[in-house]
Amino acid sequence: MIIIKSDFEIKKMQEAGALLGEVFDLLAKDIKPGVTTAALDKLAEKYLHQRGCVPSFKGYGDFPGSICASVNECLIHGIPSKKKVLKEGDIISIDMGNIYHGYQGDAARTFAVGNISPEAQRLIECTEKCFYEAFKVAKPGVHLSDLSYQISRVAAEYGYTTTKEYGGHGIGREMHEDPFIYNYGTPGHGPLLRKGMCIAVEPMIHQGAEDITQLDDGWGVVSSDGKLTCHYENTIYIDDEGAKITTIDKNVKGHILNVER
Ligand code: MG
Repeated sequence: MIIIKSDFEIKKMQEAGALLGEVFDLLAKDIKPGVTTAALDKLAEKYLHQRGCVPSFKGYGDFPGSICASVNECLIHGIPSKKKVLKEGDIISIDMGNIYHGYQGDAARTFAVGNISPEAQRLIECTEKCFYEAFKVAKPGVHLSDLSYQISRVAAEYGYTTTKEYGGHGIGREMHEDPFIYNYGTPGHGPLLRKGMCIAVEPMIHQGAEDITQLDDGWGVVSSDGKLTCHYENTIYIDDEGAKITTIDKNVKGHILNVER
């Protein structure tokens, strides 16, 4: 069942999302060669608590961290580790969720660690574009799969593949609500978007083949061919004429200026 949020609830979602955006901006400064993903996790948790937020990932299905820290071939759900030291040229996806006054934010960014290759840069560019092309078509009356289609269309244009097993989701008082949002598809299927829907749209893109392997730790998901992967996500809500992002940080601000609706 898709839960439609009232204007009051949308305000709460915006508050949660704004705080998550602030934390992303702080954390972005901490991402550099030599830092462990466990250290980033500790910092994220501290920043969230300082803002009165609960880290929603911690303890979710026994996940041990406040962030998912997924480096290079790790697509999603990387467990923060003292042994994982970032090095120049890595890309790291940080996925982070918060609860503020009962409402949730969920977002992911893939950051460059120092100088990265043009290929890695292109993958990040593509993944962000997948999100914004989906975001641009989101408005009342369009089908959910119209967003999914945009993600797979952009990925294919770059010569990349999209994850089939994981995708976006409704969000509100719970981190994962209906509907599930595929990262691929053809237009014109699934539920119609309506004002008051809140969804987390999260393209997951592979430089190589889409096949994934689950790590022995029960969480981390990596590309089976060892090639780079990338993840980008924002929480959005549908309003009268289109859609708006709640999880606003500097990254989103840079894009919004360029997104024509
Ligand atoms: Mg999510």
